[in-house]
Amino acid sequence: RLVLGIETSCDETGAAVLDETGTILGESLHSQKEVHLKAGGIIPPVAQRLHEENINRVVQEALDRSGVAPRELGAVATTVKPGLALSLGVGLRFSLSFVRRHEKPFIPIHHMEAHALTVRMLRQVDFPFLVLLVSGGHSLLALARGIDDFLLLGQTLDEAPGDTLDKVARRLSLVNHPECRGLGGGQAIELLAKGGDRLRFQFKSPMGQHYDCNFSFAGIRNQVTMAINKTEKQEGIEPGQLLSCVQDIAAAAQHTVASHIAKRTHRAILFCKARDLLPQNNPILVVSGGVASNDYIRDTLRIVTDATGLQLLCPPAKFCTDNGVMIAWNGLERLKEGKGVVSHTQEVAYEPRARLGRDISTEVR
Ligand code: ATP
Ligand code: MG
Ligand code: FE
Repeated sequence: RLVLGIETSCDETGAAVLDETGTILGESLHSQKEVHLKAGGIIPPVAQRLHEENINRVVQEALDRSGVAPRELGAVATTVKPGLALSLGVGLRFSLSFVRRHEKPFIPIHHMEAHALTVRMLRQVDFPFLVLLVSGGHSLLALARGIDDFLLLGQTLDEAPGDTLDKVARRLSLVNHPECRGLGGGQAIELLAKGGDRLRFQFKSPMGQHYDCNFSFAGIRNQVTMAINKTEKQEGIEPGQLLSCVQDIAAAAQHTVASHIAKRTHRAILFCKARDLLPQNNPILVVSGGVASNDYIRDTLRIVTDATGLQLLCPPAKFCTDNGVMIAWNGLERLKEGKGVVSHTQEVAYEPRARLGRDISTEVR
């Protein structure tokens, strides 16, 4: 059984063909990152146009590289939720016309579920396991109990950590920084932070009095912005020019984001342990999403998992960010369990907002 996976939920057009062992037979990925970086953020109609311009080629490339003909496919799996409406629409329309033309089963995919399951393509990880997904659009903690059975333990109340880092990078004009050419916001901050003093600025991790596993990053961004404003005044420079202490600000911002993520994850681990929701033997924390490729954030999380006896698993960076491979893998997992193939493709619609799994109150003191 072979599955073609298609991803267009945000700003990457991705496609891949996998066999049922999880071997990648062929893949292709087109990222719109550079265009959006120049524009200072994603403009949905622009993302839509770029998906439309690239989806044919990307899917064809994945098929060509795999040497698999459409008639040999067992199914097509495509992200239908959550994401940008205009972006999701391109992938869904393309996929529906593809499956009708080639008479293939269609499997709609939840993007966050795909992020959470990717690790199982790379190694054996049994349910249940704890999963932390941190990216440009999401921040959530969930207990994965089965391929379509998630208990949502917490999520962000405002913005996502990748978004926060991207906005801080923009406020610091890091695109003008000679060392940061071509890097996304989060990557630029990680690089600069390496040379910075994270104690020169002190930012507070939010929600210390909230006894649940939710996140909040807007307050961190606000504190960083105020520190930048103040320093610009002191140094007598205009917004857009680079601050002399840009590395120290990057280091402190990254540290505060890392420490907030680690604290909320620690709460989730304690909650799961108190309720016996994790296996006694080798409990696992899976971390994925674009922000999970940050080494400082991984190291901070490792302090938490070491202290609580969990194993930290994080897929390589290329599988942490959006791609077609994880969608194909999710399709395979569903195909194996006989779940998710739709019988009437005309009833499939995309859903820009879609929660992962059931949520429960995690408030414990
Ligand atoms: P979604 O939430 O729908 O998956 P997305 O497209 O933003 O949205 P990803 O492609 O997984 O998600 O991740 C991109 C985000 O990850 C960006 O916000 C980017 O700044 C952040 N990011 C990438 N590399 C790093 C890094 N090294 N350190 C911190 N953040 C990073
Ligand atoms: Mg992306
Ligand atoms: Fe994603």
